[in-house]
Amino acid sequence: MELDKITLSRMEFEGHTGCFDFEKTNGQKFIVTIDIFIDRIKGCYTDELADTVAYDKVYEITKQIVTSDRGNLIECLAQKIADGVLEYDKRIDKVQVTVSKPEAPVKGIFETMEVTVTRCRKEFVILSLGSNLGDREANILAAEQALKELSGTEGFKYASIYETEPVGLEEQPYFLNTCVGFYTDIEPFDLLDKIHVIENRLMRTRDVHWGPRTIDIDIIFYGDRVIMKPELTVPHPMWHLRSFVIVPLREIKDVGLDHPDDKEVTLYRKR
Ligand code: AMP
Repeated sequence: MELDKITLSRMEFEGHTGCFDFEKTNGQKFIVTIDIFIDRIKGCYTDELADTVAYDKVYEITKQIVTSDRGNLIECLAQKIADGVLEYDKRIDKVQVTVSKPEAPVKGIFETMEVTVTRCRKEFVILSLGSNLGDREANILAAEQALKELSGTEGFKYASIYETEPVGLEEQPYFLNTCVGFYTDIEPFDLLDKIHVIENRLMRTRDVHWGPRTIDIDIIFYGDRVIMKPELTVPHPMWHLRSFVIVPLREIKDVGLDHPDDKEVTLYRKR
């Protein structure tokens, strides 16, 4: 479904963002357009001012950020504005910011130089990680590091690492399992793609269903979203049946759930 959109168009400010010293000293004209996206603005139905975004506040926030910035790049300035607007009003789901520098110090004829960034509100995601091949702990730590290096992830929480008996195919080495939670604005299917890249990089093979693996990463929760597609089911359909998920998960989120097998999951490394 299309989101509702509010646009503050071509706001003009005197700013000092630029790579050259004279840009930081002299300042120049910046033009900013902000598109704010909301899943149904309540004010459409109530006609109440409080049920929509305060345009004047968004203008003031933008002005404050643009006029005080002394950074190098309009890319970074656009990011700061997007962060500021999303932080200001939690009802905003997505924001698109265009920063334009019509007097940019570039020789030649042009109308403007501009950057557009689109940012969604970050949601808290919880993943389950497991390994039972090679250096199992190193595999888990490498996967966590790769997730941390993705742009658009922050605020990581790590559960302890546990050792567990294999479920399904039993003739295989014991697993190490953990959970990791973080905030991200990477959309769920994009996150799944990035997870597959990380799994492949850590040389995961998919020969045997439920068989040994260097690394297995599952999405357990994506905020409170429900996704029912074969390629991605969230919450993960098996999480509540698997002690190797429930036990580390409890360290990150209060799920209010016990499982008879929980005692068979032994602590391997506390974190
Ligand atoms: P696995 O062998 O456990 O990595 O799962 C294989 C496939 O399950 C993946 O290629 C995904 O497309 C699909 N899948 C469905 N739901 C999820 C989920 N919540 N997290 C990870 N993979 C999922």
